[in-house]
Amino acid sequence: MQSYTCECGNTLFFDNSLCLACGREVGHCPRCRRIATLLPEGDGTFVCANDDCGTHLAKCANYAQHDVCNRCVEAATAAEAPLCDCCRFNLTIPDLTVPGNLQKWYRLEAAKRRLFYDLGELGLPYGTAADGIDPPLAFDFKADVIPKNDFWRSGAAGEKVYTGHAAGRITINIREADDVEREKLRVDMGEAHRTLIGHFRHEIGHYYWDMLVKNRREDDFIAVFGDHNHPTYAEALDAHYQNGPPPDWPARHVSAYAAMHPWEDFAETWATYLDMVAALDTAGNMGFHEPIPPRETDLEQMVTRYQELGVALNEINRSMGLLDIVPEVIVPPVIEKLRFVHELVEQGRAENGALHPEPEPVAAGAAAMPEAMPAQADQGKPAPPPAPQKPIAGTKKT
Ligand SMILES: [Zn+2]
Ligand SMILES: [Zn+2]
Ligand SMILES: [Zn+2]
Ligand SMILES: [Zn+2]
Repeated sequence: MQSYTCECGNTLFFDNSLCLACGREVGHCPRCRRIATLLPEGDGTFVCANDDCGTHLAKCANYAQHDVCNRCVEAATAAEAPLCDCCRFNLTIPDLTVPGNLQKWYRLEAAKRRLFYDLGELGLPYGTAADGIDPPLAFDFKADVIPKNDFWRSGAAGEKVYTGHAAGRITINIREADDVEREKLRVDMGEAHRTLIGHFRHEIGHYYWDMLVKNRREDDFIAVFGDHNHPTYAEALDAHYQNGPPPDWPARHVSAYAAMHPWEDFAETWATYLDMVAALDTAGNMGFHEPIPPRETDLEQMVTRYQELGVALNEINRSMGLLDIVPEVIVPPVIEKLRFVHELVEQGRAENGALHPEPEPVAAGAAAMPEAMPAQADQGKPAPPPAPQKPIAGTKKT
């Protein structure tokens, strides 16, 4: 992750919507693709203060109305396209009449913007059906629905929301945006990490499996990850919850969950790859080491630098009483899986065009698969500012 500079000279960060030194509003400019000081025009529009840009901007509707976004759109097209290049993929947002949901939504959007930054760095394609991308990408941020007591006679059923992916639709149970709830789940599931950005990085892995592997490279996939048809996903899921992961999973997988089925192995490996790319990008931009652009660096070099960085950062975290920042030990079979992902990213970039961090954003599509998750307690019905709520489409566990 990069940092940016305000008109006043202060450093701006990716999540900022205000400069903490001069108090000016700032936002992401879709033209120069930087966090920029927003110079007000007096009519609710702004000009990007970057000297080499000067684009006429409007805040994304989710920035202007809800303050859950810090991106802008070009003023000239704001009336037809009021949502930014991240918010435009939302199908369902949390019910904002429920206390606490606005804050959860803010956290979800912040994590989602980082996901899109990662995809931009890698040049990966994504988009909607209108963009000509298959599968079309979309997000549902939903809470479990608990039937109200008055309705029990009607037989109204609750709806349990599973975080997952199906045919391009990424569903996140908004319970994950509650720090206490998420930490409970992390401990219950024996995970080294459980984060919002981690959920996005995992689910987008399923999306890219559908886009880049399904019906295209399944034999190559099977050679590295194993046969995803035998056992079936449902059989593997049952076995996982009955027997737990095999004790020797660390010799072959990045996580215990990855040992469940080749699709999960791929999504977990994909997420680890994005973690690595993001950590190396940030460390390079912060001067920890020379830049390591993933498009021009071979996998071994990336893994070596990531593990070196991980050793140092883990020690710093331990000295602060925090969890290890890089819990994975990247063993040779995992390197081969990461290599598959590294090459797949390159193939995706070459074959599908890309949403470049430079000029014209292009988007790409999606598919869905939910993660198994314990029940959740919030009550929510998605409110539809960005898009009408729809029932969840098909579900495969992920
Ligand atoms: Zn400033
Ligand atoms: Zn600009
Ligand atoms: Zn937005
Ligand atoms: Zn999954």
